[in-house]
Amino acid sequence: MSAPAARRSRQARVVWGDRVVTVGGDAPVRIQSMTNTDTVDAIETAIQIRELAQAGSEMVRITVNTPEAAAAVPYIREQLDRMGENVPLVGDFHYNGHRLLTEFPDCAQALSKYRINPGNVGKGDKRDKQFGQMIEAAARYDKAVRIGVNWGSLDQELLASLMDENNRRAQPWDPRQVMYEALITSAIDSARLAESMGLSGNQIILSCKVSGVQDLISVYRELSRRCDYALHLGLTEAGMATKGTVASTAALAVLLQEGIGDTIRVSLTPQPGEARTQEVVVAGEILQSLGMRMFVPSVTACPGCGRTTSTTFQELAKRIDDHLRAQMPVWRLRYPGVEAMRVAVMGCIVNGPGESKHADIGISLPGNGEAPAAPVFIDGEKAMTLRGDNIAEEFHAIVDQYVQR
Ligand code: SF4
Repeated sequence: MSAPAARRSRQARVVWGDRVVTVGGDAPVRIQSMTNTDTVDAIETAIQIRELAQAGSEMVRITVNTPEAAAAVPYIREQLDRMGENVPLVGDFHYNGHRLLTEFPDCAQALSKYRINPGNVGKGDKRDKQFGQMIEAAARYDKAVRIGVNWGSLDQELLASLMDENNRRAQPWDPRQVMYEALITSAIDSARLAESMGLSGNQIILSCKVSGVQDLISVYRELSRRCDYALHLGLTEAGMATKGTVASTAALAVLLQEGIGDTIRVSLTPQPGEARTQEVVVAGEILQSLGMRMFVPSVTACPGCGRTTSTTFQELAKRIDDHLRAQMPVWRLRYPGVEAMRVAVMGCIVNGPGESKHADIGISLPGNGEAPAAPVFIDGEKAMTLRGDNIAEEFHAIVDQYVQR
């Protein structure tokens, strides 16, 4: 399986201490996420940031919307540093970012990247001045900036002027096309303005988020054609559970397969009781499924059918999958390269041994009517047959031993 050739963008560096997360250029597509805690609650926010980072988020964005939130940011950073968590933090600014970044220099320094929405940095004469204050802070503290346009908060002055221009055309464009143009123009013009104000173009990442799959694909194809800034991809307000996961996957997979996108976020609305980390897991699975990155050993499991009479094999597949994911932060440190491991957990001997041979370790549990034996394959060879009531525990131990080996 080979990954598609990527569009070559400029490379931004998102830095905290020794941790340098490159975005764009020859860097792998990065995963990011966002907290949903009140930033003022520094402890709760630091705990969620750590959970997201441990799940695989390489940058974590936090809301910075009030003076109290800005004052909490250095304390959040301190808490994370104490925990040994050096994931870079991204500050999400709207409306008052110019004031917060100017009045709270410790906040400006503790963040590794600023997200600026050109649709709400101010109106009229104040617009460029306030945008400039944020760019000045980024240049002074050597921070990356994401110029993040969103069609829910698009620059209305720009949209109105493009609509007027469109009305004067002999053959006016479809209004949707005008909207796309407004998103792209807002992002690129803001980036060029930031460069003219002294920010390196390498430190600029662009995004133009919309909530429709086809809209996102159209906008990013055009955006990627018109500039070489690194691009952040994401379907905004993707929705809940299955709908959000499928819509995000459909949109991101098409663009990533075309080599468009340097960093992604899957914006899922968590269900009650669902972990925030789910969006990171989905983002990782998208990249892993496309063969672009490997984060966790991949567990292949058959769907089960009438030949599987009990839930034993589904339970074992889930247990092995949960175990591998939980162990990843530890294994990543101890055994570099373990991410690429493939494990097969199959429900019977029809496809079980064949699939197991293609994996690093595979097991076929006994199906309906089969002898109570579970052949285990390691590195393509039959290594043993497990029997009895403790097959799950024994297979678990075999996987652990394999990783250590
Ligand atoms: Fe059914 Fe066996 Fe195929 Fe699994 S491997 S789907 S249990 S026939």
